[in-house]
Amino acid sequence: MPSYVACNDAAIACARCKALLQPFAMKRTTGQDRSVTKKWRPATQAVRGGTWRSEQGETSEALFLTSGYSYDDAGTAAARFAGEDPGMTYSRLQNPTVQMLEERIALMEGAEACRVQASGMAAMTTALLCQLSAGDHIVAARAAFGSCRWLVDNLLPRFGIAATIVDARDNAAWEAAIQPNTKVFFFETPANPTMDIADLEYICGLARAHGITTVVDNAFCTAVLQRPMEFGADVVAYSATKMMDGQGRVIAGAVAGSAEFINDVLLPFQRNTGPILAPFNAWVVLKGLETLELRMRQQSANALKVGKFLEGRVPTILHPWLDSHPQQNLARKQMDDCGPIFSVVLDGGRAQAHAVLDALELIDISNNIGDSRSLMCHNATTTHHNMGPEGRAEMGVSDGMLRLNVGLEDPDDLIEDLDQALARAGL
Ligand SMILES: *Cc1c(COP(=O)(O)O)cnc(C)c1O
Repeated sequence: MPSYVACNDAAIACARCKALLQPFAMKRTTGQDRSVTKKWRPATQAVRGGTWRSEQGETSEALFLTSGYSYDDAGTAAARFAGEDPGMTYSRLQNPTVQMLEERIALMEGAEACRVQASGMAAMTTALLCQLSAGDHIVAARAAFGSCRWLVDNLLPRFGIAATIVDARDNAAWEAAIQPNTKVFFFETPANPTMDIADLEYICGLARAHGITTVVDNAFCTAVLQRPMEFGADVVAYSATKMMDGQGRVIAGAVAGSAEFINDVLLPFQRNTGPILAPFNAWVVLKGLETLELRMRQQSANALKVGKFLEGRVPTILHPWLDSHPQQNLARKQMDDCGPIFSVVLDGGRAQAHAVLDALELIDISNNIGDSRSLMCHNATTTHHNMGPEGRAEMGVSDGMLRLNVGLEDPDDLIEDLDQALARAGL
C-alpha cells in the first residue's frame, strides 16, 4: 500500500502553508481486507468497496489529480521501479483514485482484478488486442455496438487476426465457428440495439472446453443485473460511460478478469500503450457506483412499465421482460431484471421513426444510453449509420427501429409523452 508520510514536524514548520505540509498517509478504511469485502452484498460493495482513506478521514473518496509521485530518497525510487516497494510511480501506471475504482469494480464483478480505461471502446480494444496476435482467430456476435463491430471487421484483420461473425442467439453457430486457432469469443448480451440474448452458460462453457477466452461486453446490465463470470465468462468489459456513471457526465471503460489475465496479459499492453482513465473521470464513476443498484432497479421498473404500455401500441417491441420477446426465458435465467434499455420497431420506416422522435416533448433525442434521463434514438441514422444498409440488415437494425433508454423520471410522464408522440406520428 502506498503511504505518503511526510515529516511530522513539517506541519508546524510554516503556519501559512500548514495545510500543504500536513503529513499525509493513505490507508484502507477498516474492513478493506478482500476476504471481508468479497462477502459484502453488491449494494454494500458499490458504496464502500475499494475505499482508501487518508489520515484526514475524508468520507468521500479523495481525488488525486497528479501525474507523478515523489520519493523520500533515491533508494525508494529505485525500489518502486524494481517492484520491491508497492508505492506509485506515475499516473499512467497507478493512481490512488483510479485504483479505488478498479478495486470496487473487481469486487462487484466477482473478479480477481480490474483495470479501467479512457472509454468503453478503449476497454474493448485493450481487452482484445492485449491477447490476440497475427494468425489468431476470433468469433464475434453479429449484433453489437457499432464500434465493437468495427474493431472486429476492420481493425483486427489489419493485424492478421481473422474473424467469424455469428448470430449470438444460435448456440450451434458458435460451435461451428471454432477453428484450431480460435483464441477469443466476443459478444454482448443483451445486444445493442436488437436486444438479442446470448446464452452465457452455453457459450462460456463451450469456450472453456476449447481453451478459448470469452470477452463479454456487459454494459447493458452491469454486475447489478448480470454477472457473466458466474456463468463461466473469463473477461468482462465495460463502457462505464453508461450505467456506471449513470448520469451522462464522463466517458469511461473497464476490464475485469483473473489476476493472471489482468496483470500478465492486459497490464503490459495498457501500461505501454496508455489508454488510461483520468483520475477525475474515475472519481465521477466511483460516485456513480454508489447509486448504481438503486438506479438499475428503478430504471428497470420504469422500463417495464413503459414497455407494457408500448407493447399493445407499436407493431414490434424488443423487450427482454415481455412475453413477446422470443428469448424471455433465457433473459430471465441470466439477468436479475430487464435493465433500462429496449427497442421498438415501427412499420413506417425511417420517416415514421423520425416523426416520433420529433414529436417528443420530454424524452430527449440522444444516442447515449445508461443515463438517468430518458433518451431515444434512431439507430439506423445514428449509432449504426456507418455500417451501411447491408450491414444493418444483417444485424437486424431496421429503418423503423427506435431504441429507448428509460430514465428515472416518473414513468407515467414518459408514457404520456410517448402516447402523444406516437399519435402525432400516426400510431
Ligand atoms: C457505449 C457502448 C460501448 C462503447 O463505450 P464508450 O464508452 O462509448 O467508448 C461499447 N459497448 C456497448 C454495448 C456500449 O453500449
